[in-house]
Amino acid sequence: MKILIVEDEISISEVVAAYLERENYETVCATDGEQALNLFFHDSFNLVILDLMLPKLNGIEVCKHIRQKSDVPIIMLTAKNSESDVVAGLDAGANDYVAKPFSPRVLMARIRAQLRPTDSRKKVPSITCANGRIEIDTERVEIRKDGNVIPVTKSEFLIFLTLASKPIRTWSREEIISNALGENYDGFDRTIDTYIKNLRKKLAEPEHENGWIKTVYGFGYRFDE
Ligand code: CA
Repeated sequence: MKILIVEDEISISEVVAAYLERENYETVCATDGEQALNLFFHDSFNLVILDLMLPKLNGIEVCKHIRQKSDVPIIMLTAKNSESDVVAGLDAGANDYVAKPFSPRVLMARIRAQLRPTDSRKKVPSITCANGRIEIDTERVEIRKDGNVIPVTKSEFLIFLTLASKPIRTWSREEIISNALGENYDGFDRTIDTYIKNLRKKLAEPEHENGWIKTVYGFGYRFDE
C-alpha cells in the first residue's frame, strides 16, 4: 500500500510518514500542489493525504484534478473550525477530512477506514448463471465458462455483467451504455453490437446459434439462460 502525503510543512509530513511507515505503508511526500499531481500521475497510490493550503496549486485544485481521472481515496487536512474549508474539500471530491491540528492516531484510523477491504460501498456481487456454467467474478474481474477463464476486455466484461445481472430483461443499447460503460462513454450506440458480437464469439455454445445473449430485434439485447 502506497500513500501520497501532500503537505508543505515538513514537520507535519514527517510525523505522518513515520506513523504510516510504522504500520507498513509506503509513503511519498510532495510539498506543493504541482509536485503532488506530477507524482500522482506518474505512479500508483492507494490513498492521498492532501493539505488544503499549499504553494502553487491549493488542495482543492489538486483534488479536482485527481478526481477527473481517479477514484483514489483522498483525506483532506483542513484548518480547524473552518466549515467552509470542509465543505469545499468534500465538494471537490475528498472522501474524508481531518481538522488541523490533528492527532496522528485519529488520522491513521481514518486512513484504515478508507482502505478497509470489506468496504461494501462499491462492491458488486459476483454472479453465477446458465445453470452454474458461467461465473462472473467481480473480485477478479473475470468471466469463467465451465471453470475456464474467457479472455474479455473491460467493456465486454461490464456489458456481460449488466445483461446477466437481470436475466430475461431486455436492454436497449442506450441502457447498456449508461449502465455498463457510464455516462462518459463517447462511442456510438452501434458499437455495442461489436462488443456483443465479440462476447458471443468468446462464449457461444455450439448448440446455441447466439449463445446466451439474444437479440431483441428493434430494441436491444437480453441474457437468456
Ligand atoms: Ca499547508
